[in-house]
This record gives sequence, structure tokens and C-alpha cells, in this order.
Amino acid sequence: MRYPFIDFVASNRLFADELEQAARRVIRSGRYIGGPEVEEFESDLCKTVGTEYAVGVSNGMDALRLIFRSYIELGRLTPGDEVLVSANTFVASFLAVSDAGLVPVPVDADPSTMNMDTGLLESLFTPRTKAILTVHIYGRVSYDSAMGSFARKNGLLLIEDSAQAIGASTVCAGKVLNAGAIGDSAAFSFYPTKNIGALGDAGAVTTSDKALADMVRKLANYGVAGQYHYDRLGFNCRMDSLQAALLGVKLRHIGVETAHRRKLAAIYDSCIRNTLVTKPLLDNPDMSVWHQYAVRVRNRDIFLRYLEDNGIGTNITYPVPPHLQQCYAGYGFVAQPVTEDICRTVLSLPVSRCTTEANAREIANIINGYRE
Ligand SMILES: *Cc1c(COP(=O)(O)O)cnc(C)c1O
Repeated sequence: MRYPFIDFVASNRLFADELEQAARRVIRSGRYIGGPEVEEFESDLCKTVGTEYAVGVSNGMDALRLIFRSYIELGRLTPGDEVLVSANTFVASFLAVSDAGLVPVPVDADPSTMNMDTGLLESLFTPRTKAILTVHIYGRVSYDSAMGSFARKNGLLLIEDSAQAIGASTVCAGKVLNAGAIGDSAAFSFYPTKNIGALGDAGAVTTSDKALADMVRKLANYGVAGQYHYDRLGFNCRMDSLQAALLGVKLRHIGVETAHRRKLAAIYDSCIRNTLVTKPLLDNPDMSVWHQYAVRVRNRDIFLRYLEDNGIGTNITYPVPPHLQQCYAGYGFVAQPVTEDICRTVLSLPVSRCTTEANAREIANIINGYRE
């Protein structure tokens, strides 16, 4: 591939010295789970996101599971409650809801933002609706004042799936709101493909609710009450010290990562001119963190082959939406026409640090030469 979609070796080489120094420090410390490395990362994450608490955990899916399980332990959710979830998302968002015995209710996407269509919320509300799980898909914040007032009016918990959106923000009623600090709680993933990627699995919960942060921390550590005493049915979802140390390095460089992605998105936006290719909305160029630069194309198979023939690596997130996955056969989900159309047509272009600005211009030129 002349233009790889992502290159982990090249991405990590950017920070090789710092990563190796961090790894060496952990190896020599004798502390491999939790401890000061994780505490320092949590404190850095709080500052980046703007919440009072952050809890480092094993991965993004566990961050979501711990949030829902903790609200149940705190009596703020009850199994059987309905959770309105963005339909255009990764399966983990749905799985975390089902895992807690809650009922995912898909909310279709707005075709322009590809995020939750907040105009549908009112029609999906039932007396069992108790929470919203809004997913900041592709790195763009999925929140507006309609969602906020709907949640407040009905006393719903607002939970953010921020797995793709570290560093993203939006402006609402004149205020800048950061992904991960908008709702009652949020889940982050540091899976290697994410904007801040671990060298393995890792995730985090952010919140300014002390009771929730404490419960998440407890459940992530078997439900511990005191040494070898347990007062909740918990799990083991702790963060490795090694991942925390490595992530700390990358979090310090988040500004460069985000600026690079924004630059490439701006180049694609101004240079791609092909009526067969619909570009993502760039109304607030400095707000999305462009986890994906997701274009839409009618005959995607032909376009994909054309890009591959021209050495351009691509990614499809996602070819099948959660509500149509086989694991959810029998759940009786209704059709989500916009999401299903996105899944048929969406395709991401390279935006990682291994794609240069010159590469992005070349990729745009190749795309401009595409004919069906
Ligand atoms: C990656 C991702 C997750 C899951 O995170 P993991 O760390 O892979 O478990 C959840 N939701 C969304 C939207 C994601 O992109």
C-alpha cells in the first residue's frame, strides 16, 4: 500500500524514546497493575477532558459495562429499563447495555452528521426509558441542546460513548463542551486504532459524580470493600500500569495528533471534488477530532477496488450496524433506514500520523479521477 490506512509501527516510532523510557520505568517499578502510573494517567485524563474523576480500566467496552452496572448498583437504573442508543455505532455500545440486563433502543442517525438524530428521541420515549447512550461517532460530538433538554425533562441519565472522540468538543448555548464531560458519565477506549492508542487494550470512565466514580472503581476491582472483603458483585477490569505509562506519553501529544487529523480533513474537504463522493460535514472544523474521515459512495465496492488499485488503504466502520447483527436476532429491532444506508455507503480515508499532507492531496487527486 502506498498510502496505508494506519501503520502502528510508524505511529509508535514517533514517540519511541518516550515510550521505551516509560516501559522501562514500569518494568523496574515492580508495580504492574494500578498504582502511581495509573493514578497519574487518570489525573492527566481529568485535565484533558475536564471532569473531576477518571477511572482507568481494561478497555472501552468494560468502561461502558462498568457505567451501566454501577448505575444499577447505585439504584439509578433497574434491569429492564430502556436505553436510547445511537444506531450508527460499534456493536460494543449495544453489548454494554444488554450485558447489564438493560434494553437497547436504537435511535437512527441524522444523515448529515451521521450521529444520533435527536429529532427522533420524543417518539421513542416510553415510561421505561431511563438513559441515553450517545455515541460521538467518527470523532464528532453527538450532543445538542435538544438532547440535553430531553434528558433533563425526563430525568434520564446521559452517558457518552467517547471511544472515538478524545479531545473533541462542541459549542452549545455559547459554551464549549468537551467529549467526556457533557453527560453524567463517559467511556473512553484506548484500543490501538483510536486517536490515543495503547499498545494493547485499555479504557477509562470519566465523570464528575463521586458516587459513580467510586462504584466504577469498586466494581472494576471485584467489588472490594476492604482487603479480601467484597460487598458488591464485581469484575476484574483494572488498567495495567504499563498501558497507563505508555498512554501518558501519547496523551501529552494529543494536541499534535488532533491538529494533524484536522489538517488532513481540511485538505480532503477542499481538494476532493467528485459528485460521486459525499464528504463528511465540516461545519465546525476545529470541533471534530476526525477519528475517521468517513465519505459516502453509492457503489462502494467499485470505489473501494479503485482506491486499492491506486494504493490507498481504507476502512469501513461499520459494514453491519448492531441492530442487524446476528447476536441480536430475535430482539425485534425495527429498521433504522439512515444507519443502514450509512453502513452500505460509508468508507474512511487515511487520517493517521503516517499520512502526510502531501499524501492527502495525492489521495484527493486520485479520488477526483474516480468514475463508475
Ligand atoms: C472502540 C469502541 C468501543 C469499544 O472499545 P474497546 O476498547 O475496543 O473495547 C466502544 N464504542 C465505540 C464507539 C468504539 O469505537
